[in-house]
Amino acid sequence: MSYTIGIDIGSTTSKCILLDSQRIIVAKALVQAGTGTDGPARAYGKVLKEAGLKREDIAYIMSTGYGRASFEEADANMSELSCHAKGVYRTMPDIRTIIDIGGQDAKVIRLNDKGSISNFVMNDKCAAGTGRFLEVMANILQLEVKELESYALRAKEPVKISSTCTVFAESEVISQLSKNVDVSDLIAGICGSVASRVAGLAKRIGIQNQVCMSGGVAKNGGVRGSLERELGTEIFYSEDAQYMGAYGAAIFASEKV
Ligand code: ADP
Repeated sequence: MSYTIGIDIGSTTSKCILLDSQRIIVAKALVQAGTGTDGPARAYGKVLKEAGLKREDIAYIMSTGYGRASFEEADANMSELSCHAKGVYRTMPDIRTIIDIGGQDAKVIRLNDKGSISNFVMNDKCAAGTGRFLEVMANILQLEVKELESYALRAKEPVKISSTCTVFAESEVISQLSKNVDVSDLIAGICGSVASRVAGLAKRIGIQNQVCMSGGVAKNGGVRGSLERELGTEIFYSEDAQYMGAYGAAIFASEKV
């Protein structure tokens, strides 16, 4: 049996997937620590342990993500654009537009009917419209980022956040809190702010149905819902959205074997 591994080393998290020779997922791990930390080694160690395997049992390791070049165990590395496209196309072959929002960037990737990338646009210059924006706001609200969704979904009248800059938006949120606005309405506004930034990015290259989200922010139903309204289309989402890059890397690895 030839096993392969895909590891996605992001700015915020490390994701690892181990496939068997039938390309079935044998083990997966997500560690809340990304490049420049021991997160990648921990994610890698976890999948080996879960599968009961050793390094020498693995035929090929492909790394991807922001920190992909720094993982010495890898046999090769590939861009996260290619790996997300591969992972999504394998999981949902009808997808033609991927909206990937990670810890410090956002990308919109268009696929053709063979799953190849036909166009893409990205924001890696500004924290607004990325997971970092949500982390900063969660911190002010003394919440975990994963708690934002349930608040956002309870909102009745989302508060519009008008500052596009994260630093100014932070002051705006603090000022709203001091006015005792409803926290759910405020959080829905925060999710809406991420969605409208990313929708602006998507509109630059145009979207084609079907549309899906990948990356960690896809887990937030508040952002997904706002994006659906902004773009006027349904957004598909898999429970494994955050693993799409690692999954694609593992498939590329298995194609090398
Ligand atoms: P990267 O690959 O850049 O490290 P990820 O795609 O793993 O980033 O996404 C990380 C981001 O996902 C975090 O900044 C956070 O905003 C968001 N996130 C992570 N876990 C959750 C969760 N359980 N619910 C909502 N958002 C989450």
